Amino acid sequence: SKRQGRNTYTFFNHNMGKEVYQRLLLEEQMLGALSRNEFELHFQPQVCLVSGKMSGVEALLRWTNPVLGAVGPDLFIPIAEESGQIVPIGKFVITEALSAAQAWQQQGLDLRVAVNLSPRQFRDENLTQFILDELNRFELAASVLELEITEGLLLSGHPGVSDALTQLSDAGVSIAMDDFGTGYSSLSYLRRYPFDLVKIDRSFIRDLMLDSADQELVSAAISMAHGLGLSVLAEGVETEAQWARLKAMGCDAIQGFVFSKPIPRDALTRLALAESTR
Ligand code: C2E
Ligand code: CA
Ligand code: CA
Ligand code: CA
Repeated sequence: SKRQGRNTYTFFNHNMGKEVYQRLLLEEQMLGALSRNEFELHFQPQVCLVSGKMSGVEALLRWTNPVLGAVGPDLFIPIAEESGQIVPIGKFVITEALSAAQAWQQQGLDLRVAVNLSPRQFRDENLTQFILDELNRFELAASVLELEITEGLLLSGHPGVSDALTQLSDAGVSIAMDDFGTGYSSLSYLRRYPFDLVKIDRSFIRDLMLDSADQELVSAAISMAHGLGLSVLAEGVETEAQWARLKAMGCDAIQGFVFSKPIPRDALTRLALAESTR
């Protein structure tokens, strides 16, 4: 009835209206964000546990909008995925990351750069060619680039994914399984796709020093990955104790606040230059 309709509307208006409005506002602001130059990459170091030195960085997207302020990627990436905006935004990320990699190389810094790819980006048939063209344009070896994907992409069963990953891997780009351990089928995917690296999710690292189950899981993941010829990076490492434990467990690399938070490009350059002259 009409009356019910009006009540429903009132309910909607009071309880969900704000959320829906926020989301519409976010989507609307996102549309012009690239051309207004509101996106920026920050970079977080990845540290080799054998040398104790920075071996690469992960590029992490930041968005600062005049209306919304700083919007976190956990909030805007899913919306960019649903709207399809992640395709042009994702290209921006690849271009900016490779531009940084080229600058670092010209300064004598040997840093691999890891970029996150969303499932939606693989529906763009030109993704592989775009990446290879950009590597060419910046005169970079493909091995400079690492692509981080999650199990969600492989679960999607999109037919182009396997070909794209194989093509990129054959070209020399390295492929990482992100958030390892949070899904259900990660193990079988490791065999079926050309992975080079697994990134153990930070939920397994957080209580590493307290929780013996987490220690068992991390230890098993490391030996399993090594058995498959893959290297292992632990995410979200926040303490020296976790660092030492992971090193003792044979983990290859770490990433986390214990070494550095994600920082702007210039700050990363200064950090890497300071380390290289140490
Ligand atoms: P992710 O790929 O798992 O990235 C790692 C996240 O963990 C980052 O959050 C990073 O700041 C945070 N982190 C790193 N070290 C620590 C630590 O020691 N402790 C804690 N508590 N957190 C740590 P951020 O930058 O907010 O990114 C969140 C997520 O947004 C990313 O998770 C990724 O899924 C997505 N994302 C970020 N940039 C991009 C992008 O360019 N493209 C796509 N498709 N997704 C992106
Ligand atoms: Ca990642
Ligand atoms: Ca490979
Ligand atoms: Ca991750």
